[in-house]
Amino acid sequence: MRILRPRGFALSVHHIDYEALWGRGIRALIFDLDNTLCLWRAGPPDAGVRGLLEGLIGRGFRVAVVSNGRLSRRPEVVSFFEGIGVPVIWRARKPFPFGFRRVLGLFGVRAGQAAMIGDQVFTDVLGGNLAGLYTILVEPLEPTRESPFTRFNRLLERFIRRRRPAQGS
Ligand SMILES: [Mg+2]
Repeated sequence: MRILRPRGFALSVHHIDYEALWGRGIRALIFDLDNTLCLWRAGPPDAGVRGLLEGLIGRGFRVAVVSNGRLSRRPEVVSFFEGIGVPVIWRARKPFPFGFRRVLGLFGVRAGQAAMIGDQVFTDVLGGNLAGLYTILVEPLEPTRESPFTRFNRLLERFIRRRRPAQGS
């Protein structure tokens, strides 16, 4: 199923060749939150992720987060992203395209100029592909910490991940 297949695989957000993405004309980077930038339902991302995101913004990328999570009870996460000027779309209902479209409108870029980077096939990759974005699947930060629903999806995901091509983006 082509629509479930990411354009690239990477070990983590730190293992992506962002210059290659820039070379492809990608100008907006949309990240998933839980298990991509930080642990599921946990506090804000660590200093390494902060440095990465600040570096990408400094490079000229527009950066946003699109999450299916709720902002309630996560004030540290909200202020983390406010502090570095990264908009967060909460309760995005991925794989539906609403959240992605909001980011594209916000940044004034076309779908072909945006990449979606996340750890789940049935939300991040499927949603990104449906919206016409360049999709990159990363390994979940901590696969034992997530919702029962996500764990069910992981069973199906194994099939997709098994067919991974070469590492990188
Ligand atoms: Mg996730």
